[in-house]
Amino acid sequence: MSDQDEQDPLATAHPDTLAVRSGIHRTQEGEHSEPIFATSSYVFENAEQAAARFTGESAGNVYSRYTNPSVRSFEERLAALEGAEAAVGTASGMSAILSICMAFLKAGDHVVCSRDVFGTSVNLFSRYMEKFGVAVTFVPLLDAAGWKNAARPETAMFFLETPSNPLCEVADIPAMARLAKEHGALLVVDNCFCTPALQRPLELGADIVVHSATKYLDGQGRCVGGAVVGSADMMQEIVTFLRTCGPTMSAFNAWVFLKGLETLRLRMEAHSRSAIDIARWLKPQPDVEKVFYAGLEDHPGHALAAQQQSAFGGVLSFTIRGGREQAWQFIDGVRIMSLTANLGDAKTTIVHPATTTHGRLSPEQRKQAGISDNLVRVAVGLEHVEDLKADLHRGFDAIRA
Ligand SMILES: *Cc1c(COP(=O)(O)O)cnc(C)c1O
Repeated sequence: MSDQDEQDPLATAHPDTLAVRSGIHRTQEGEHSEPIFATSSYVFENAEQAAARFTGESAGNVYSRYTNPSVRSFEERLAALEGAEAAVGTASGMSAILSICMAFLKAGDHVVCSRDVFGTSVNLFSRYMEKFGVAVTFVPLLDAAGWKNAARPETAMFFLETPSNPLCEVADIPAMARLAKEHGALLVVDNCFCTPALQRPLELGADIVVHSATKYLDGQGRCVGGAVVGSADMMQEIVTFLRTCGPTMSAFNAWVFLKGLETLRLRMEAHSRSAIDIARWLKPQPDVEKVFYAGLEDHPGHALAAQQQSAFGGVLSFTIRGGREQAWQFIDGVRIMSLTANLGDAKTTIVHPATTTHGRLSPEQRKQAGISDNLVRVAVGLEHVEDLKADLHRGFDAIRA
C-alpha cells in the first residue's frame, strides 16, 4: 500500500459508506451531488494532447462511447460494492451478457448454461452464439451431475443465475466455481436478483458478475442498463468490445443507477423483509397450494441461501389451487400491484410466468422447468406490507366471485 492509499479514508470503509461516497470526482464547481456529464465528446488543450489521447499514450476522455465521467462514477461505485477490481456499464443487461460472450468466447468454444436463466439469455446463447459456432448445453440449475457431464475440453464458460426466477432455486456458487475451474472454464453469475447488497459472487469464487441494472440497481423502474464486474484485466476486454461495437451506458442512465446504489442496501432489506412476511402469510391461505421463497425454512435452498446471501430478496412465487383460469382471475383481482413482467421496483409487480416471461417455452419445457399454469410471481415492492396482503386478498376473492 502506498502512503496515499493509507490516507484514503474509503480504503477501509464499509459497503454502506462506499455506496454513498465512492466514485466521486468533484469538479471545480464544488457540486455536492454527482453531476451528469451529458456530452458526447471532449476537447483537448492542444494538438499534441489530442494525438496522445488518440494513441492512448495519455489517459483521458475522447468520446463517450469510450469513456464518460458519469458512467465511470457508477462503475467505480458498483465495483466497490461487489468487492471487485473493476466494473463496466453497458446499455442493458442483455448487452452486458453479450459483451461477455464477445470478449471471452470464439467459434469452437462450448458454454454450459443453467436452463433456469432469464428467457432472453437463453435466446442469446441458443440463437446467436450457436449461429457463430459456439455450442451451448442447457442444464437444470441444481443438477450437479448434469453440469459435470455437460463439460467438455472446449468448455469456456459456465453461466448461471441464483436465486433462479421464478422458483427461487439456489445454486452453490463455491461448488460451481470449483467445477468450472476444474474444466478451465469461467464462472459467470447473473447477480440481478440479489445485487451486491445481498450476495457477492466474486468472493464466493465466481470469475465475472453480470447485472441488469434495470432492476434493483435503479430500483424505481426508470432506466434500462447493465454492468459487468470482475478483474481489471478481464474488464479491459469488455471495454475494448464496447468501444468497438457500441452498446455503452448513457450518462443519464449511469447517474440514475449511481444514485440508486446509495439506497440499495436499505431497499433490498425492505424488499426482503416484506417478501418473507408475505411468503409466510401466503402459505396457510386456502387458495394457495405451494409457496416458493428461499426465506421459508422448508424451501430446499434455504440453508444455502442463508449461507451465501445476507437476506432472501424480494421475488417469490406461488401456485394457486386450480389452473390457468384461477391464476388469471387472481391476478386480475389485485388492484394495487402492477401487472407487469418487470421487477426490482419500489412498486410491487405481479405476473403469470407461463403465459408471459416463460410463454415462449413449449409446454414440455415449462413442465420440466416447474413453470406450471397455476404459478404466480410477485416481486415485492416498498408499499406497506399490510396493504399488499389486502391486495392479495382481493385476488383470492376474485377467484371465488
Ligand atoms: C432483466 C434481466 C436481464 C436482462 O436485462 P435487461 O436490462 O432487460 O437487458 C438479465 N438477467 C436477469 C436475471 C434479468 O432479470
